[in-house]
Amino acid sequence: MLAMERTLILLKPDCVQKHLVGSVIARFEEAGFAIRGCKMIQLTDALLAEHYAHIADKPFFPEVADFMKETPVIALALEADGIIDTMREMLGVTNCLEAAPGTIRADWGSKEEGKNMMCNIAHASDSAETAAVEIKRFFAEDELFL
Ligand code: ADP
Repeated sequence: MLAMERTLILLKPDCVQKHLVGSVIARFEEAGFAIRGCKMIQLTDALLAEHYAHIADKPFFPEVADFMKETPVIALALEADGIIDTMREMLGVTNCLEAAPGTIRADWGSKEEGKNMMCNIAHASDSAETAAVEIKRFFAEDELFL
């Protein structure tokens, strides 16, 4: 039996700029995911240093940080049985040119050279442990429901 899980989604500035927020959330609702939290946030360097600690030493990090601050992002806490793996599959791999057909990153991410790794529409937690930390990072207790 699959465990009931929560995941943290960030709809990135490219998603907001391309007016795809509704389309992406529609996919999540069609998949039966429950929305437990939803808010718009302007990311800061401090939040990004925490959220992207695992890539903070990479040469591309400053560019990623600038990109993530271009517009506010939409943070979602979503819940469903086995949602961590299902969501990573729905999203596709980091590189939009290599993401499987029909995934969010393949359908809507950047295919432009130099942007195809970075402008990939959404972030999703990579494990249940990470999700717990990430949901806490972006939502106060009273911003989550049910
Ligand atoms: P994912 O978001 O697929 O879990 P990572 O955690 O490895 O990927 O990276 C975090 C984010 O940093 C990616 O979603 C992407 O926006 C950006 N990124 C990762 N690798 C690169 C790269 N080589 N060049 C530019 N941006 C990158």
